[in-house]
Amino acid sequence: MPRAVRRRWPLTRSFAVISSIAMVVLGCALVWVTWSVMSQQSVRDGIATAETVTAYATRTVPTDSFVPPDNLDQAQKDAVEAATSGFGDRLVELRLWALDGSLIYSSAEHTETGFPDGDRLDLVTAGGSPSARVITDVRGAGAGSGGGTELSVLDVYVPVRADEVADPDPARGSSVIGAAEVMLDHRAAGAALAEAVRTLAVVVTLGLVALWLVLFRTVWTASRRLQATALENARLALLDSLTGLPNRRMLAERMRRTILEAEETGSRVGLMLLDIDRFKDINDSLGHDRGDELLEQVAERLRGALRDDDVVARLGGDEFAILLPDVRSVANAERLARRVRGLFVPPFMLGELPLHVDTSVGVACLPDHASDPSSLMRTADVAMYAAKHHRTGVSVYSADEDDSSPARLVLLGDLHRALTPAPGAARELRMHYQPKIELATGRTVGLEALMRWVHPTRGVLPPTTFIPLAEQSGLIHDVTRYALTECVTQLAAWRAEGRATPVAVNLSAHDVTTLAVVDLIESLLEEHTVPADLLEVEITETALVADPSRVVPVLERLGALGIRVAIDDFGIGNTSISQLRDLPVDELKIDRLFVSDLGADGREGSEVVVQAMVDLAHSFDLRVVAEGVEDEPTAVILRRLGVDQAQGYLYSQAVPAHDLRLTPSVPRPRRDRAGGGRGGVAVAPTRPPSTRHTRPPRSAGTDDTNG
Ligand code: C2E
Ligand code: CA
Ligand code: CA
Repeated sequence: MPRAVRRRWPLTRSFAVISSIAMVVLGCALVWVTWSVMSQQSVRDGIATAETVTAYATRTVPTDSFVPPDNLDQAQKDAVEAATSGFGDRLVELRLWALDGSLIYSSAEHTETGFPDGDRLDLVTAGGSPSARVITDVRGAGAGSGGGTELSVLDVYVPVRADEVADPDPARGSSVIGAAEVMLDHRAAGAALAEAVRTLAVVVTLGLVALWLVLFRTVWTASRRLQATALENARLALLDSLTGLPNRRMLAERMRRTILEAEETGSRVGLMLLDIDRFKDINDSLGHDRGDELLEQVAERLRGALRDDDVVARLGGDEFAILLPDVRSVANAERLARRVRGLFVPPFMLGELPLHVDTSVGVACLPDHASDPSSLMRTADVAMYAAKHHRTGVSVYSADEDDSSPARLVLLGDLHRALTPAPGAARELRMHYQPKIELATGRTVGLEALMRWVHPTRGVLPPTTFIPLAEQSGLIHDVTRYALTECVTQLAAWRAEGRATPVAVNLSAHDVTTLAVVDLIESLLEEHTVPADLLEVEITETALVADPSRVVPVLERLGALGIRVAIDDFGIGNTSISQLRDLPVDELKIDRLFVSDLGADGREGSEVVVQAMVDLAHSFDLRVVAEGVEDEPTAVILRRLGVDQAQGYLYSQAVPAHDLRLTPSVPRPRRDRAGGGRGGVAVAPTRPPSTRHTRPPRSAGTDDTNG
C-alpha cells in the first residue's frame, strides 16, 4: 500500500485526540471563568446587602455601646431587631463586634458571648472595607452536639464608623468603631449559581462537540481528498499516462530490485531498449493523435507477447524498455529481442491505414555487460543506437560501440596512429572501391570509395566501427583528409594509365559545415593535377538538413569547382525531394532500406515511393542511384522505374584498387545523367556476386578485404 494511505489515519487520529483535549480544556476554562465571575458577583451582591443591613442596624445603636463594657439593653436590641426585620429569613444572624472583639449584639437567641474571627475583624476595622466569605454553618436544635441543619452562609464583616451610629460623636469623625458581622443565607444564591453553571456546562459542551464535529469532518474530508490526490500522483509518477505501462521511474525501481535478487541467486538480467524507426516522420506526417494511437498499439503488442515476470515500460517518446528478470544466456536475450522485433511485422492499423513500422532493439545483460542498474540501462542504450545506426534491427551491446568503454579509448588511440603511418610502414587504413553500374548498359561508370581498417590485432574493421568514433572525437577531419588524399592520388595514378573513373568520397556531416574541406580538395586536385570532375562527394541527407545555412555555401563552392555532390542515404531523413530543388546537388542515392524492399518479399508500397523519388529527382535534373542492390529482380525493377545507376553486392562489393579491372577511359560529356563517367572500369570478379542470403555479415574479419 502506498505510504500516503498508511499515513492518513495517524494524521486524522492525532488531530482527533489533540483537538478533543483542546476542546475539553477550553470548555472547562470557559465554565470555570464564568462560574468565578458569577460567584464573585453573588458575593458582591451579598456585601451590598450586608452593608444595607449594617446601616439599618447601627442607626439604632449609640456610640458608647461599641465601647466595652457597655452593652445594649433589651430595648436597644429590640430596636436593632426591628430595624433589620425587613430582611426576613435571608438574614441568618447579625452580630455587632467592638474593636476589641467583644460581642455587643447578636440576633441569635441566648447568645450573649462569643468570639469573632479575629483576623478578619482586624482586617476590616483596620482597612475600612468589608470582607466576605462563604462558610458552612450548623444551626437549629442540637447544633452543639453534632445535630442541626447545615447552612451555606455568606459571612460578611462590615466596618462600623462613628458617624453611622445613632449618636455620632463629632470628635471621632468617621473612624471605625467596630464591625457588624452579617450572615446571609447563601443557599439560594449557591443554588442559582450551580444551576447557571450546569446550564452553561451543557451549552458549552454541546457547542464544543458540534464545533469539534464540524472541524473533524472538514479535516477528514480534506485528508481523504489529499489521500486521493496522493494516490493519483503516485500512480502518475509510476505509470505512463498514454499507454498505462510502467514509466522510467518504475522501471528503475523494478530493475533495482531485480538486480538485487539476481545478485543473490546468480541469475542473469536482460534489458532491451527499443525505439520505433522514423517515428518522428509518422508523427509529423500523420499527426500526433495518430502517433499516440501507434504508441498505444505498440504497447499493446509488447504487453501481450511477454511473460508475466517481464516488465514492459515506456521510457518516453517512442522509446520502450523490456526488463527480463531471468534470461539463460545473452544469446537467449538476443533471440527474445528478435521475437520482439517480429511483433512489428504485421502492419499497425491506424483507422483504415495499414502502417508498416520497424524498430531497433538494443540488448544488454547483467552481469555480462553491466554490473548495476544504471550501467545496464546505459549499455542497452548504446546497443540500441548501434542497432539504429547500422540498421541491423537488433544489436547486443559491444564495447566497441561504447563511447566510454576503455576498449573504445584504445581504439581511438589506434586510429590516431593509423592516420599517421610511419614512412614505409604498411598502411592500416585503405580505400576500397565499389563500382556504380549504369543500369541501362551494365557498364561501370563510377566508383564509391569506402574505407577499411586493417587493424593489427582485431582484423579488418568496417567503417561503421570507427567512423562514428572519429566523428565524436574530432578525428574525422583527419579521416576525411586521409580518404581524399588516397583517392586523389589513386585518380592521378589511374589517369597516368589513361583509365580514370570518377570516384565518390564520403564526407562526414562535420566536414561540410566549414569551407576548409573545399580548400583541401582544391589544393589536392591542384597538387596531383586531377580534374575536378573526376571527384565526387557524398553527403548524407541528415548532414544536409542538420545545418543547411552552413552546408549550402560549402556545396555551392564545391559545385563552382566542378565537383559533383551526391545526397547519400536519401529517404531515411526528413527532407522532401522538393527541398532539394534549390540545393546545389547533382545526385540522389536512394537508401538501401527502400531498395531492399523492392524484391519479391519486400513491402508493397516501396515501389511507389521509389517511383515518386525517381520522377521528382529527374524533374530537378538529378541523377538517381540505387544503393544496396543485391539481386537481379531488384535490378530489373529499378531499371523499370527509371533509376540511372545502381550499386550493390549484385555487381560487386567494395574491393581494393588492384582488384578492379579498369578499362581505358572513353571521354564522355559531363552532366550526362545516365553516365557521367570518364573512363570505364570492369570489376575483376574477385567473388561471385552476393545475394541477399549470402550477404557477408558486416563485422570484422568477414569483410571484402583480401589484401
Ligand atoms: P554508405 O556511404 O552508405 O556506403 C554504403 C555501404 O553499404 C558500404 O558499407 C557498403 O559496403 C555497403 N554496401 C554496398 N553494397 C551493398 C549491398 O548490396 N548490400 C548491403 N547490405 N550493403 C552494401 P561500409 O563500407 O561498411 O560503409 C558504411 C558507411 O561508412 C558508409 O555508408 C559511409 O557512410 C561510411 N564510410 C565509409 N567510408 C567512409 C569514408 O572514407 N569517410 C567517411 N566519412 N565515411 C565513410
Ligand atoms: Ca556513400
Ligand atoms: Ca549510402
